[in-house]
Amino acid sequence: MDILKIVPPPKESRFDSLLAQARAEYCLLRVLPKRRSFLMHVLYRAALMPLWNPTFLDDYTTTIFFWVFMPEELIGTDEGYRVLRHELAHVRDAWRTGLLPFALSYLFLLPAGLTLRAFWELRAYTETLRVEFEETGAITDGTLEMIAEQFTGPAYLWMLPFPRWVRRLLQKRRAEIIGEGPSGDRR
Ligand SMILES: [Zn+2]
Repeated sequence: MDILKIVPPPKESRFDSLLAQARAEYCLLRVLPKRRSFLMHVLYRAALMPLWNPTFLDDYTTTIFFWVFMPEELIGTDEGYRVLRHELAHVRDAWRTGLLPFALSYLFLLPAGLTLRAFWELRAYTETLRVEFEETGAITDGTLEMIAEQFTGPAYLWMLPFPRWVRRLLQKRRAEIIGEGPSGDRR
């Protein structure tokens, strides 16, 4: 007698479930491999990034409206899940604010050094902190420091180049997230 072995369907990754959930809300949402994107190569060259952000194509995820350009090796992974949580905060903000006003405020509104880009990124990095708290029950100083470097360095064009201020903002966010608890309001 044959015994039919029941093979369970492959378990969907956290990345896949999050993406499916987000695509149910934003049907135009796509995650695309960054190095294969012609647009990303054009942006890299046009903004002279080889000079000031040479790892743009390999180390950074870039979201434009509903297109999330992600390093290919992250797609489908746990690390990709963490990045996607951050990027979806941008998608959500862009959708609520209006795509054009969001893009213009992200890119151009000055004064330099205290841009709306910093405001939007603080919202998205709050989501990054929240993921760490959900996964580990803590948010380390090392994470705050890594994020502070993003705010004060070239990666985002020195969007808020005041390290002590940035650290204070991030510490405040950390305290709020820990106060919310693991199932805190995500929006
Ligand atoms: Zn971001």
